[in-house]
Amino acid sequence: MEEALRHQATHDALTGLPNRALLDERLGMALAAGPLALLLLDLDRFKDVNDTFGHPRGDELLAEVAARLRGVAREADTVARLGGDEFAVLLPGGVEADARTAARAIRAALEATIAVAGQPVQVGASIGVALAPVHGDDGATLLRRADVAMYAAKRAQSGIAVYEPAQDQHSLERLALVAELRHALARGGLVLHYQPKADLAGGQIRGVEALARWPHPERGPIPPDQFIPLAEATGLMAPLTEWALEAALRQNRAWADGGLVLDTAVNLSRWSLHDPALPALAAALLRRHGVPPERLCLEITEGAAMADAELTAEVLGRLAALGVRLALDDFGTGYSSLAYLARLPVHELKIDRGFARALTASATDQTIVASTIGLGHGLGLNVVTEGAEDAQTWELLRRMGCDVAQGYYLSCPLPADELERWARRPRAVA
Ligand code: C2E
Ligand code: CA
Ligand code: CA
Repeated sequence: MEEALRHQATHDALTGLPNRALLDERLGMALAAGPLALLLLDLDRFKDVNDTFGHPRGDELLAEVAARLRGVAREADTVARLGGDEFAVLLPGGVEADARTAARAIRAALEATIAVAGQPVQVGASIGVALAPVHGDDGATLLRRADVAMYAAKRAQSGIAVYEPAQDQHSLERLALVAELRHALARGGLVLHYQPKADLAGGQIRGVEALARWPHPERGPIPPDQFIPLAEATGLMAPLTEWALEAALRQNRAWADGGLVLDTAVNLSRWSLHDPALPALAAALLRRHGVPPERLCLEITEGAAMADAELTAEVLGRLAALGVRLALDDFGTGYSSLAYLARLPVHELKIDRGFARALTASATDQTIVASTIGLGHGLGLNVVTEGAEDAQTWELLRRMGCDVAQGYYLSCPLPADELERWARRPRAVA
């Protein structure tokens, strides 16, 4: 009985692995005995899996990951689950070379796909390494530094990083950046650029996609791929979305007043779809700027729409009821349930720019794009392809029957005044 209780208190119920408490204990013992290596790993796409397939399937995946980790560890090592999709591996006596070997073995073990609900899923892992005594001589410091290294591994996309003091600097910089982003949002430091989309058949300009830009006064332009995830991680997404909607609708109205009638698309983050206040906000902003709802399109990524299906369907339903158009962005990169897709109140599929990149050279991509166009049309949706960079791709998309295209071939995203000049310029059909 006592034995069973102790096991329960020191092990994770889902995977049967040692938990944080037991890891701390073993860390203490290993530290007293000599050098050691601590690996901290975090699964790269676990949240998507959990959101898409549900928690029970997410749990199955975690159990399989745990089994694979145990499979590569030696007898003397401790594989622990720290919670969520975070695991740790303690290598008593380990030096940097051992840690790197173990990290590579773990990544290799996770390379084979895992069947989740019958679908092959690949979850990568980012691994941070801290070594004792070089990086610290107590458990808490080592865990913290392994965590800093893990974020460096994620950032570098190398998958594996050994702690370096410069990485701490980076986390400080990240903190500073969050404060600056908050400041920029409050003081009008962000701007929207607009990228046009055109009808493939006739070449008319249909509308624009509003894309956020952060011209940082000291650091130079910071790309959205950096500050959007930062906003998502720090609760700044709601104010950013509100700002983008307000700025885009204000601009849409100003153009319309000058005789330039365009549809405007605004991107929503996955968190916006969890925000029950969003439909009312959109309605209020449309009214304030006198923009007809059908002139606004909201882009949500396929991954976000499939996540938390119930919640998403509710917010999307209310947005659609306003008369706003909805587009599924980055289509082809998530795990769509086609049955669910058919029920979503969306109007447009935006095929991910990854498929346009090598379209003319890749027969596979051509098949995927052609099938997606067929699927979209079959469901009565407008199909857009983004990332069309040259005339050949454009022409191929036209021949495949795609409705609308967007990409550098037509124009890159432009500041509002340049977009206006561009749109008013007489041109040959795109
Ligand atoms: P996205 O929604 O898929 O936006 C399209 C991205 O593709 C833009 O990158 C655009 O500049 C780029 N692009 C356009 N044409 C081409 C092309 O021909 N070739 C290539 N290689 N790329 C092309 P950008 O502006 O860097 O935005 C990146 C992502 O940041 C966006 O991806 C979107 O997910 C996010 N984002 C941008 N602004 C906002 C915003 O206001 N709110 C939210 N929630 N997300 C935003
Ligand atoms: Ca988009
Ligand atoms: Ca996209």
